[in-house]
Amino acid sequence: MSYEVAVIGGGIIGCSLLYHLAREGVTNTALFEKEEFIATGATSKSAGGIRQQFTTEINIKLSQFSLKKFLNLHTELDIEFSFHQHGYLFLATDEATLLQYRKNVEFQRNFGVDVHLLTTGEIASRWSYMRLDDVLGGTFCQDDGYTDPYEFTQGYAKCARKLGAKFFHSHELVRATPTADGFELEFAGGKVVRAKKVALCPGPSARKVTRIFGVDVPALPYRRQMALTVPYDGIPKVMPLTIDGANGMYLRNEMGGALIGAVNPAEPSSENQSVDDDWMMTQLEYAMNRIPSLERAELHTSWAGLYTITPDHHPIIDELPVKNLFFAGGFSGHGIMHSPAAGQCLAEIIAHGEATSIDISCLSFDRFEKGELLHELNVI
Ligand SMILES: Cc1cc2nc3c(=O)[nH]c(=O)nc-3n(C[C@H](O)[C@H](O)[C@H](O)COP(=O)(O)OP(=O)(O)OC[C@H]3O[C@@H](n4cnc5c(N)ncnc54)[C@H](O)[C@@H]3O)c2cc1C
Repeated sequence: MSYEVAVIGGGIIGCSLLYHLAREGVTNTALFEKEEFIATGATSKSAGGIRQQFTTEINIKLSQFSLKKFLNLHTELDIEFSFHQHGYLFLATDEATLLQYRKNVEFQRNFGVDVHLLTTGEIASRWSYMRLDDVLGGTFCQDDGYTDPYEFTQGYAKCARKLGAKFFHSHELVRATPTADGFELEFAGGKVVRAKKVALCPGPSARKVTRIFGVDVPALPYRRQMALTVPYDGIPKVMPLTIDGANGMYLRNEMGGALIGAVNPAEPSSENQSVDDDWMMTQLEYAMNRIPSLERAELHTSWAGLYTITPDHHPIIDELPVKNLFFAGGFSGHGIMHSPAAGQCLAEIIAHGEATSIDISCLSFDRFEKGELLHELNVI
């Protein structure tokens, strides 16, 4: 078989790309996923958070473009799809963080983000279930929120299929050979297909997969873990996704229980996806410190997944130094919220040679070599 574009990886990014390629008029496309089903990688492990509270212009623009899409996607993709705009609340417990938050709000408001600096009294009056005696203030944006990444990935896949794209599951790319007009791709088991253009959306396997083509992207996997309690009466259904600036712990309501994450800053890069029980205890202690009623909430389940992190915590969305080889990855924990923009922009690059919806030239592959790194401060 021979395709115009082969997409490698059936997470939210690959499925968004495939759909947007079809919308840009590109036909004869196919997606190859190594697992038996799509959306089983990082996409299925995520907290589904969507926010605009970033400290670089490009992250805010990716978020704003994506937010507009999220608000209309149930019609565009014709799916039942939940997007809870319950806001994101960042809490500062030291003066330096509060000062930075003040600067962040000013910066974000310049781009039209409806974000506010709140006093501890204002926070206490709205979200009284939290312990706030160490909190000096916070930032809140009501337009932020969370979604179900699985529903959303399936929605993209369904629409891409309707528009003619093909899906191949249990197809792990293992080898690639350049040809006169593209690539010959070989999958585990020996099947070979040809494609004029190839787009790599391999999530945490970024390095492994790009190396098949002789390119080394600086995007490494890091374990991140989540805990979910059984439903209990200590938190309201409508609550913001709340981040403790001091330790990076974040939590939100998930079906009446608390969904809790926290980054272990000492975690080295690895592909380990087992739950680290010691860190899980620390994570839960951080959460109980902020919401004391969690002490009576029973743990329902926990899991670990992988972030794919670049040196400047921004994705690479670009053609790689191999002609007709494209890449979208290294989302550094923001791949769900930026998936509409990433899919649209990479589809434009593949179809027309450049991204016109957003200027994403600063997300190029060669920025690391050139020393043109970006600096995002609001990383969770
Ligand atoms: C605990 C946790 C919480 C998170 N919370 C958030 C959040 O709140 N908000 C947010 O925006 N993001 C969040 N993220 C990040 C988000 O999940 C990722 O950025 C996003 O899912 C990346 O999507 P992807 O399609 O690039 O990767 P994936 O979903 O991992 O998909 C990549 C696919 O490529 C396939 N693949 C790999 N190698 C090959 C090969 N050789 N051949 C064929 N297929 C291959 C894999 O099987 C996989 O299905 C979180 C991540 C984790 C782990």
